[in-house]
Amino acid sequence: MMGPAHSLSGAAAWLGVGAAAAAAGYPMPWPVLLVGALISAGAALAPDLDHKAATISRAFGPVSRWLCEIVDRLSYSVYKATRKQGDSRRSGGHRTLTHTWLWAVLIGAGSSAAAIFGGRWAVLGILFVHMVLAIEGLLWRAARGSSSDVLVWLLAATSAWILAGILDKPGNGADWLFDAPGQEYVWLGLPIILGALVHDIGDALTVSGCPILWPIPLGRKRWYPVGPPKAMRFRAGSWVELKVLMPVFMVLGGIGCAAALNVI
Ligand SMILES: [Zn+2]
Repeated sequence: MMGPAHSLSGAAAWLGVGAAAAAAGYPMPWPVLLVGALISAGAALAPDLDHKAATISRAFGPVSRWLCEIVDRLSYSVYKATRKQGDSRRSGGHRTLTHTWLWAVLIGAGSSAAAIFGGRWAVLGILFVHMVLAIEGLLWRAARGSSSDVLVWLLAATSAWILAGILDKPGNGADWLFDAPGQEYVWLGLPIILGALVHDIGDALTVSGCPILWPIPLGRKRWYPVGPPKAMRFRAGSWVELKVLMPVFMVLGGIGCAAALNVI
């Protein structure tokens, strides 16, 4: 899928988690619902850091271009080092290491750890990165073109600052789900894991599939391209994605949001 569909599905997934959490007796305060949806929308672009034409690889100027280079090389060497006989030969790292459940969990757990040990600035950093991505993903057209990069960064920095201020207020959710002293913002890792997984599932629906299960081997493959039967797959950016999936994500997100806030 392309950026906007990935981001929308990420946001919708978090709103769905909000509905499930409310049903399970852990209702999210509205700032957690909002910030989680934005983080998940941003995190749903992150796995494509292995592709230099992807939004995330261009979103932070030279920093992300350099990171993309490293991630691509790392992914490719991990692919070569762990492939089994059944895995095909490939020439780059796109859709390998960063498109697995293990990567999603490591990035999410790393962010939670950073939030605990890094304090306020780490939280602001995590929010800033994901706000940039959420703006790029959700406001796709408006955020195009290199001249708007600085504006996007400013908007993301301002919203990260404001949102952190709101979350910090008692009862607003800095300690949602994890409420022992010192566990503030541990939940930030959850929308990050969710966004990455939703990205992988979205990619699995496209023609080439997605090796979500790595490193768990399946038959003669360790990088098994998970996906539905061939006839049910579509091309990234096709009409199915724009005219069917994106409206569906919006409707589901709206229902999830209403349920999470106990409106329905
Ligand atoms: Zn991808």
